[in-house]
Amino acid sequence: MAAPATGPFFITNTLTRRKEEFKPLRPPHVGLYVCGPTVYSDVHLGNVRSFLTFDVLYRWLTHIGYTVRYVRNITDVGHLVDDVDHGEDKIAKRARLEQLEPMEIVQKYTNGFHDVMRLFNILPPSIEPTATGHLIEQIEMVKRILASGFAYEANGSVYFDVPRYAEEHAYGELSGRKIDELITNTRDTEGMDEKRSPLDFAIWKKAEPTHLMKWPSPWGEGFPGWHLECSAMSTKYLGQTFDIHGGGMDLKFPHHECEIAQSVAADGHAPVRYWMHGNMLTVNGRKMAKSEGNGFTPKELITGNHKLLERGYSAMTVRFFMLQCHYASTLDFSNAALQAAEKGLDRLMKAMALLPKLKPADADEADIAAIEQRCLAAMNDDLNTPVMIAELFEAVRTINSGNDGKLRLTASSIEKLREMMQNMVREVLGLRDEADAAKGDDNALDALVQEFIRLRTEAKGRKDFATSDGIRDRLATIGIILKDTKEGTAWERA
Ligand SMILES: [Zn+2]
Repeated sequence: MAAPATGPFFITNTLTRRKEEFKPLRPPHVGLYVCGPTVYSDVHLGNVRSFLTFDVLYRWLTHIGYTVRYVRNITDVGHLVDDVDHGEDKIAKRARLEQLEPMEIVQKYTNGFHDVMRLFNILPPSIEPTATGHLIEQIEMVKRILASGFAYEANGSVYFDVPRYAEEHAYGELSGRKIDELITNTRDTEGMDEKRSPLDFAIWKKAEPTHLMKWPSPWGEGFPGWHLECSAMSTKYLGQTFDIHGGGMDLKFPHHECEIAQSVAADGHAPVRYWMHGNMLTVNGRKMAKSEGNGFTPKELITGNHKLLERGYSAMTVRFFMLQCHYASTLDFSNAALQAAEKGLDRLMKAMALLPKLKPADADEADIAAIEQRCLAAMNDDLNTPVMIAELFEAVRTINSGNDGKLRLTASSIEKLREMMQNMVREVLGLRDEADAAKGDDNALDALVQEFIRLRTEAKGRKDFATSDGIRDRLATIGIILKDTKEGTAWERA
């Protein structure tokens, strides 16, 4: 496959800090890996923004014709508080507080995470591997890193030797950090009785007797280091070199820097061709985080039950609010911005609902193809969703003018508009109206029923009542009831 029919797709590669044309290694296949959640507490809205960014990337790649294998992991190994090599195990700490088994904690928050993803219409990945399900792969990787001489064992733990690695490779390339500055700035002396350098990080950690989540290994009972699971699972499912690795900006260092070093040490080459990082959601300029007390959960958002919220907002309002900002920019949360987004989304959905009712004219006064081209160009330009949304509002104005009789549109222009809005709004941006959402999560079913409704309306238009009644009756036999109203045809389950 050469460049997609919609034109070349450019993304900002955070490794080179340049906008580059995306060319997959094995087209039409694309390998995409995104760091998933650590399942020891509820996700907050800042996390949702990151997963939404890569949801839009996944949707766009699929829309322009690629076959994407999207891997997003679940971190369910008991990593340590602060994500450093000392302190308490996060999941075990939570298990003690909630008086549950660690695996009950993992299951509870994994379920909660999936609920939130569904609520925001974020598509599930193709593979969702868990760290505890890939202990063997991680232990094998530790062995390969030891064999290459870039790690050493100390008292049952295995540490990655950063200074030794930096002698031969560019440690800090992704995050733009210099090894000398890192050494001067590291005051962390914890574990220094075992580590040769404060920059070294554990790839296998010996478990203390009280540690709950631990496994046997050639170095004794322990658990894998935080960075290791993503290296082991991404390369297992996508190959030793794959196309795109995504994650939040805060993961660039040390997590992603360490992932690169681990793969180079274990396999001899860099794992990722394009790195993409989503920016943060801030509140009054400060990062949204649990530790800051400003990270509300999606549930609090919908109920409005949080001191930062004037009232509740729907998940689709929040999705739209986030898409109005480019993924690489910080987005500051405010009630005013959410209320504006709510109005904007409502205008968009109302215009889409008008489409089946537009009366075709014999002449055309709008250039729908030009609007569509500008939408595609915006998305091909590093997923520029705010520009794409501005273009969609051009389409909204066209629809509204057509409805008011101020602008003439032919049947073919109306059909082109309908198709464009369906593709861009529902499939690429993943927006659905709240009435649809109430029907359940089945967007595909709705799209299908809408097609039947359109065929039926066409049949009625040519007075072919045998066909139009036939469509209605056959849908009824499978439990889909059509209802003709003044606003058009709606449907519901029997
Ligand atoms: Zn990761």
